Amino acid sequence: MSIRDINQDWINQFDKPLIIAGPCSAESEKQVMEIAERLDKDYVQVYRAGIWKPRTKPGSFEGVGAIGLNWLRRVKEEFGMLTATEIANASHAKLALEFDIDYLWIGARSTVNPFAMQEIAESLRDTDKVVLVKNPVNPDLDLWIGGLERLAAQGIKKLGVIHRGFSSNNKSKYRNNPQWQIALELKDRFPNIPIICDPSHIGGTRELISEIAQQAFNLEYNGLMIETHCNPDEAWSDAKQQITPERLKEILVDLTIRKKND
Ligand code: PEP
Ligand code: MN
Repeated sequence: MSIRDINQDWINQFDKPLIIAGPCSAESEKQVMEIAERLDKDYVQVYRAGIWKPRTKPGSFEGVGAIGLNWLRRVKEEFGMLTATEIANASHAKLALEFDIDYLWIGARSTVNPFAMQEIAESLRDTDKVVLVKNPVNPDLDLWIGGLERLAAQGIKKLGVIHRGFSSNNKSKYRNNPQWQIALELKDRFPNIPIICDPSHIGGTRELISEIAQQAFNLEYNGLMIETHCNPDEAWSDAKQQITPERLKEILVDLTIRKKND
């Protein structure tokens, strides 16, 4: 299989844009369940929580680890949501598959590493789970596409990308500069690949989320991933960019998300 064979069937099954929401990091079973309970299931189809967190600097919270898989399982059982988590190596991939996590995403710090991508791709061989590839931290479109090629070559069909912006030394209002033209080039070259925007990591502050999300919809992205926390200011990672489930709903309503045929 090649990336030309990827199709949008898996995302077209939703009658609204795909919304993935939940905390940057799972912190406790109580926190995970409270956020899930407060999310409006009419708007959010997939619950995200990072349990393995590749952090830029040592000493930061690196995730609760495999125990969090049980909490995501409870979210699925009790709220009927699909679940998503980040995987960064073969053992994460194996455990996530064992626990029937529906969406696996590859973080910006892994997409940048061809050996990591290859190892992950091989450990997901022929999976029918959805696999989403975040752009690499650096503005290198070929690395991003290379990651997709490695996954497609292993027979993984339900693929998509997440645009989360790029590191830059230039000061700007963004935490990660969106450099929309890079994502749009990918979209132009591969219109068959679903593209999701991550306004939380692009913006880095909660005030920017709605304008970035609107921009993504203006550019006809297929969905959004937005970090959502029951107590954003106290979050153990990415506190400044997280919003409450109630604020998320307001933003989504303002984006006037409609059914495709409306
Ligand atoms: C995340 O989604 O919490 C995350 C760590 O993202 P990124 O890989 O985009 O930095
Ligand atoms: Mn985060």
